[in-house]
Amino acid sequence: MADRIKMTTPLVEMDGDEMTRIIWKMIKDELLLPYIDLKTEYYDLGLQHRDATDDQVTVDSANATKRLGVAVKCATITPNAQRVEEYQLKEMWKSPNGTIRALLDGTVFRAPIIAAGIDPLVPTWTKPITIARHAYGDVYKSVDMVVEAGSKAELLVTDKTGEATSELIHEFVNTSGIILGQHNTDASISSFARSCFNFALDTKQDLWFATKDTISKKYDHRFKDIFQDIFESEYEDRFQAAGIEYFYTLIDDAVARVMRSEGGYIWACKNYDGDVMSDMVATAFGSLGMMTSVLVSPSGAFEYEAAHGTVTRHYYKHLKGEETSTNSVATIFAWTGALKKRGELDELPELSAFAEALEQATIATIESGVMTGDLYALSSLAEKRKVSTEEFIQEVGKNLRLKKPFQG
Ligand code: NAP
Ligand code: MG
Repeated sequence: MADRIKMTTPLVEMDGDEMTRIIWKMIKDELLLPYIDLKTEYYDLGLQHRDATDDQVTVDSANATKRLGVAVKCATITPNAQRVEEYQLKEMWKSPNGTIRALLDGTVFRAPIIAAGIDPLVPTWTKPITIARHAYGDVYKSVDMVVEAGSKAELLVTDKTGEATSELIHEFVNTSGIILGQHNTDASISSFARSCFNFALDTKQDLWFATKDTISKKYDHRFKDIFQDIFESEYEDRFQAAGIEYFYTLIDDAVARVMRSEGGYIWACKNYDGDVMSDMVATAFGSLGMMTSVLVSPSGAFEYEAAHGTVTRHYYKHLKGEETSTNSVATIFAWTGALKKRGELDELPELSAFAEALEQATIATIESGVMTGDLYALSSLAEKRKVSTEEFIQEVGKNLRLKKPFQG
């Protein structure tokens, strides 16, 4: 075999928990280390080490991502009361993804991996639909109240000079009712917009954005205006040069167009729309094991991961010595996404080419009928075979070695 591919800048490697931690090591041993002189700055985000470092390791890994620009992350446990017990934790540590996203001020883009035989429930969707969810504010950072009949609800704002402005929300004359106060900030909407425009340029896909600005004439209209201003002042020329478009429409029109589309674009969503629509789109494309996720900061740092969790049920089987059939595809693509980006930034075309070849070998494995149980249940191929977690990764390795210049 030829010499292993050299890297210049390290990747930030964030290790994780349970079944995905097992898969993580297999991918490195079988699919990466034989071919790449892998350089990583390693952070162990496994729950035990987060606990031992009082979660400092999560903060350090996010700061390393800011510094080095590209990270790859394994799925991690977000502790709840049961996990605090199970792992004897000092505290119920916060979601690592939440911590990293807050530090990077980033937006999460989720995209399905497409393979023949895993047919989307919407037959026209032949290309991936990438969803970007604005993960700040609106109903997720709101206050709400139940109000008695006879109450009057008003919106009151006190500015920095102490001057107050108020507006009537509703007079509850004969009936009790409910009210909600929500907000967003220009800073957060602007970061979201820049992350979306950057990612569209990065992946050379059109960007769609939609709100309900006809009804919400100030709130939703603000989103529309901020996107439009930033587009015109910072991105329009680059979009033109890249041959891609920014397209704004009403949310209902967007939903109708998405259903009729063939895919192949990024759909930027307000917080609630993204929460709901990402589950619909993910389900229509098939398995969680085929969904990738990238966190993009407005300053241009990228963190790649699988969209699924640590697959706890499979891990407990694994611990009992039973065979598992866990899908490693989204985790493999997290690595290839990060390696391609590193290759592009450091001008190492052989690193990007390797990542591309590994993706092709992974898809070719599934399309040849060799797949894990989740896909076996979905695949429309006439000849298919369900394999174990290990065997799938080994089969990908075999397909990779069929490709020049990676023969073992
Ligand atoms: P999950 O790990 O995504 O798994 C839910 C179920 O989906 C699995 O039991 C399995 O179904 C199926 N599945 C998910 N990924 C699969 C794969 N790669 N291959 C085959 N089947 C797959 O979600 P969860 O069970 O709700 O959460 C488990 C842990 O993950 C939690 O501690 C949670 O905090 C954490 N989590 C982390 C992240 C992250 O780090 N980004 C995201 C979500 C959840 P079957 O059991 O039917 O086979
Ligand atoms: Mg949701």
